[in-house]
Amino acid sequence: MALTYLDHAASTPMRPEATEAMLPWLTGPEGHGNPSGSHALARRARRAVDDARDQVAEAVGCRPGEVVFTSGGTEADNLAVAGTVARRPGVAVCSAIEHHAVLHPVERAGGRVVRVDARGIVDLDALAGALDPSVTIVSVMAANNETGVVQPVAAVADAVRSRAPQAVVHTDAVQAAAWLDLAQHAAPAHLVSLSAHKLGGPKGVGALIVRDSSPVAPAPLLLGGGQERDRRSGTSNVAGIVGFGAALAAGTAARAGTASRVGVLRDRLVDGLLAAVPGAIEAGVTDVAPDRAHKVAGACHVCFPGVDAEELLFLLDQDGVCASAASSCASGAAEPSHVLAAMGVPREVAAGSLRLSLGWCSTGADVDRALEVVPAAVARLRPVPAGGS
Ligand code: PLP
Repeated sequence: MALTYLDHAASTPMRPEATEAMLPWLTGPEGHGNPSGSHALARRARRAVDDARDQVAEAVGCRPGEVVFTSGGTEADNLAVAGTVARRPGVAVCSAIEHHAVLHPVERAGGRVVRVDARGIVDLDALAGALDPSVTIVSVMAANNETGVVQPVAAVADAVRSRAPQAVVHTDAVQAAAWLDLAQHAAPAHLVSLSAHKLGGPKGVGALIVRDSSPVAPAPLLLGGGQERDRRSGTSNVAGIVGFGAALAAGTAARAGTASRVGVLRDRLVDGLLAAVPGAIEAGVTDVAPDRAHKVAGACHVCFPGVDAEELLFLLDQDGVCASAASSCASGAAEPSHVLAAMGVPREVAAGSLRLSLGWCSTGADVDRALEVVPAAVARLRPVPAGGS
């Protein structure tokens, strides 16, 4: 059975440009140099890392020296929050819908968590109320990993500038990078987290952009050989970094076309599900935000009240549809999503949440298959109404 992959927000397939760029650094006879060394092969590896650094900088709109390669989005987020608080002790603030890679470090630092509205957008009044000169870092993601809802990073930065001018603004752009122009959308943030496997690169590599304008440079979490200009020690993952740069360059070049093509597919998918399944609710779409303009193009998130998401995922998996319940890391956990809870979605509705996320290589056939399989699976799981047979 051919699989239908609708879990791109968890991890999207490698772009061919990334695979091709990586191969010499994995298999080539001369691809094994350690970029920290000084001989010819080491210098070649260092050049490859620096070329990828240029590609990342170009896509994000920063200087190459502001790119700190990490092992992925989780490390970038931890470095941003824990590293900033370590360098300058103070209060960390984040929105209630952050990925746990931000939320947990903020909670560990005894920080403040700011509510979001029913659309899943950070409440700017509540944010203003949480800001004062004791705040060291404010972290609000560029786009949410469950709902795809885009956050007002520029307005967040404005609020920080006026109420906590010494604080660092961080945005987790892991889910936004495939869909939004980061050079514009992430520009107001001092620190920006990225992850390669969400944009067509390999797993296990990412970056934290640390702009020179940041009032605080995060203290390194990993100590050792002093790589990445003492900001993140550890031998560079040369092949991974090369694949990351190539994926980001290719994705950025194709981004506008991909987003409009995939947005059309996504709308057909959501509208089809809402029409086919009575009572289905689209997360983040309310009376004040009836369209999907505030979501990234690949995000389809629907709740089916009365259905258990894990049971639904099991049936979909049997039919070859790969999806997830909430964020992929939370999938399988008994607790409903903290994101939906923060948006005020009742527990019994959130328990039936399904995330079908599209990506750069999604096709109309993927949507057709989901529209065939999902409504039928929901119907199998829903209790038969009284008087029904
Ligand atoms: N931040 C967001 C918004 C994510 O969606 C994810 C992964 O799901 C991460 C951070 C963690 O990234 P990584 O898988 O590279 O550690």
